[in-house]
This record gives sequence, structure tokens and C-alpha cells, in this order.
Amino acid sequence: MKKDSKTKSSTKLTDLGEFEVINQLTKDFINSNESTILGVGDDAAVIDFNDNQVLVSTDMMVEGVHFDLAYMPLKHLGYKAVVSNLSDIYSMNGICTQITVSIAVSNRFNLESLEELYLGIKTACKFYKVDLVGGDTTSSTKGLIISITAIGKAKSKAIVKRNGAKINDLIVVSGDIGSAYMGLQVLKRENEVFKVNPANQPDLSDYTYLLKRQLKPEARKDIIDFFDKNKVIPTSMIDISDGLSSEIMHICKNSDIGCDIYEEKIPLSEELKSACDEFKLHSTTIALSGGEDYELLFTINQKDYEKIKKSNDLTVIGYITDSKNGINLVTKSEEKVPIISQGWKSF
Ligand code: ADP
Ligand code: MG
Repeated sequence: MKKDSKTKSSTKLTDLGEFEVINQLTKDFINSNESTILGVGDDAAVIDFNDNQVLVSTDMMVEGVHFDLAYMPLKHLGYKAVVSNLSDIYSMNGICTQITVSIAVSNRFNLESLEELYLGIKTACKFYKVDLVGGDTTSSTKGLIISITAIGKAKSKAIVKRNGAKINDLIVVSGDIGSAYMGLQVLKRENEVFKVNPANQPDLSDYTYLLKRQLKPEARKDIIDFFDKNKVIPTSMIDISDGLSSEIMHICKNSDIGCDIYEEKIPLSEELKSACDEFKLHSTTIALSGGEDYELLFTINQKDYEKIKKSNDLTVIGYITDSKNGINLVTKSEEKVPIISQGWKSF
């Protein structure tokens, strides 16, 4: 097809055929991990981890359920889809080395739009040093579906599960939480305004941080590197994809313990606080039940506290108790209230 530099070209997927689509999408990916022995192009990829254990995690994202292309540009979607998968490997205290990407697309999408998606995927692969080693491409009757499998490695002694928290362990969270959810609220509001008045040019400069958290989240590989460097192995860990309350409940239920979390310790950004004022929402509620921050929530033995203190990006928010104590939030007015899970559910 002839390319016109003025108008955006639109290449029908049916004109190319599956093989050429895959080739176009994957040709510029360069492998950077020694463990990648064979990548895209054969019936299966070959990976060699020597004496490490292998971590595998899969996530599927469906248009209209997990994302809305009205306010999620395809490039960001590609980046975020990778990040959310890497986050699952990091939350096991592992390093992600390979991903596979499977897509189902309707005829609404052309080659150029898929290239946008893959530009985001490539940007994430480069930043996190992950190799794209395979996938599958098929058609869907409606919309876009992306399924990513992340493959990683860890020494068996370093793997951190959800079930290892012990009484008196400290509960720690990376970064700040709730901002990604408020970013989504801002985008939804602007989208409603746009539907009524397409000429309206929104001024989103007050929300830069919130929008970045929603549209271009990062996975906390840096924290995994910090653990390695400072010789800390958390006793349990999970990534915050569905909100603090449901994640802490997973740790408590799996570890058969309780906890007290202090409301005043929960790390919130200034932008989140002012947006909550504006939207008349309670910032603690947003931190507890908003999702998609991809921060890490973990527990450590108290003897590791001095090591954790070296990072400005880690906050102790509470401690682990006997299961009889229950799972509680200690409010700013020093009331103890049970935490109930309000995490985001797609069903
Ligand atoms: P098969 O018919 O054996 O399933 P495919 O034609 O689906 O083979 O895939 C050929 C190669 O391209 C394989 O290495 C596969 O993993 C890879 N691949 C297919 N689709 C994608 C995609 N969307 N992204 C990345 N790699 C892909
Ligand atoms: Mg296939």
C-alpha cells in the first residue's frame, strides 16, 4: 500500500495476512536476556534459566471491561498491559525476562493501530529489559483482547509468596496509592464533557501526576533491586492492582494472621488529596479500594526495619497481629474498624 505523508495510512489486516502482521509487529524487537535462546518465529520459544526457578504469570485485558479506548491511547495500553504483568513477577521477588503477547482484534483495527499498541509494548520491554518471545494473533468479532504471559526467574530461597507473614512483622508499601484510580475519574469526567461538547479543550495540567499514574504506570523493579542490594527478603508480598484493602486481605487470609493498618500512615500524593476534595471523595477510601497503582505491599521481620529505612520510597503502614485480632484500620481518631474488601472485580 502506498504511504501518504499527509494523511494517516490505514492498512487492512486482511490485506496483509497473519504472517506479515506478526512480522510487522515484532521485527524491531531486540532480545537482551541471555536466557532467551530462541524467540519469535518458531513453534515455541526456548528459555534457559540454569539453576533458577521459573515464574509464570498471565493476565488478559478485554476492551470495554478492563480498558476504554476513548481515553486510553493504544500506545499507553500496550505499555500498561506489559507493566501489569511484570508487576506480578516482581511481587514474587523475581526478575521478569520474557513475555508473550496474544491479541484478538476486530476489523475495526488496522495495522497502524496495532503498531501503536506494539510501540507501547516495545517501550516497556526496553525499559524493563524484557524480551518478547512469542504470542498469538487472531480475530475477534468485537473489540480488542490482549493476553500477556510474563516469564521470570528467582532463586528458590528468594521467592516471596502471599502466605509467609508472621505476627509482629511490619507492613510496608512502596510509593503512594490511590492516584491511578483518581486519574481514571478525571479521564472519565473529561470524556463525558467531550461527548457533550467535542470543541471543549480540557485543561488537565492540575492532574498530570494522576493521569501519569493511570495511563503510564510503572512496575516496581527498582524495589526488587533494592531488596537484592540490601539483602532483604520480605516475609510475604503482593502487588497492589485491586486496592490496598483487598491486597492486605489476601496476605492475611493466606498467612492466617490479622493486622492493624494506620490510616495516617497510608502514603497519598498531594494531587490525590486535592482531587479527592474536588470530587468530594474520601482519600482513605480511594487508597483502600482504588486499584491499578502497581505498588508493592509486603511484610518484613522487624530486624529488617533499619534496612528498609534506607529507601525514601517505602512506608511502614502497620503491623501483623494474631488472626483473632482481625484485619483492621486504625483511623486518625484512633478508632479500630474492620477492613472489608472492596477491590475492583470484573464480575
Ligand atoms: P503457530 O501457527 O505455530 O501458532 P503463529 O503463526 O501463530 O504460529 O506464530 C508464529 C510465531 O510468531 C511464533 O513464534 C509466535 O509465538 C509468534 N507470534 C504470533 N503472534 C504474535 C504476536 N501477536 N506477538 C508476538 N509474537 C507473536
Ligand atoms: Mg498461533
